[in-house]
Amino acid sequence: MVGTLVFMANTAHNSPNFARLSRIIEAKKPGNGRFAPQVRDGEPPLDEYYNSLLTAFGPQRWWPGRTPFEVIVGAILTQNTSWTNVEQAIANLRRARLLTPGAIEKASPRKIEMLIRPSGYFRQKARKLKAFCAFLRYEYGGSLKRMFAQPTAALREKLLAVFGIGPETADSILLYAGGHPVFVVDAYTKRMLARHGWAAEDAKYEDVRWIFERRFPGETARFNEFHALIVQTGKRYCRTREPLCGECPLGRYLAERR
Ligand code: SF4
Repeated sequence: MVGTLVFMANTAHNSPNFARLSRIIEAKKPGNGRFAPQVRDGEPPLDEYYNSLLTAFGPQRWWPGRTPFEVIVGAILTQNTSWTNVEQAIANLRRARLLTPGAIEKASPRKIEMLIRPSGYFRQKARKLKAFCAFLRYEYGGSLKRMFAQPTAALREKLLAVFGIGPETADSILLYAGGHPVFVVDAYTKRMLARHGWAAEDAKYEDVRWIFERRFPGETARFNEFHALIVQTGKRYCRTREPLCGECPLGRYLAERR
């Protein structure tokens, strides 16, 4: 139960109640010295969220990348930075003809660092790119096709063992480069579910992933679209501070305590 929340019955999205609702959400954030969000039993109406977001934003056509390898490079470079910065780094790699696993492996670390500098943490990320390419060569003879032919769970475990690949990056690679049926969880996903009372703000990655994968087993296309739609929601409305619930396509669910 989210009994401690004072939700309004009025569902008019632009009403003053929504401004108040946003303030309540802000007050509920951990660390604000008030009360911690409570997680209710049951399941979030994910199909309704999905339909509302798709209607509002339309298909997102993710992931932006010309080849599966470029998607993988993007998934590694986008850690802790904005996509605009990643685009610059990828454009640099393309101009230098380094957008293949073999070319990345052969290039000097300094050269890669210089090219991907716009994406930030460039030394670490250069190491991560090289680590992935070495893994690909060692385990699959450099073939992404062979790599992605592996069963999802086995490949996921192997990817997670590669330097610099955590759950979000592994799942982005599996889903967007390989078409495997996994759901990508990010900070926006957790924030959205926490604010609607379906998960704790600090919920474990795997628990949140399971909420989606249990509801839509094997639905790769939906996972692809849903994650992109949630990112769009987070960027436009579900900000860390002062979320714009009154304008958000999911505002009515919040008002209905769903
Ligand atoms: S997803 Fe939308 S309605 Fe829900 S908390 Fe975030 S901004 Fe508010």
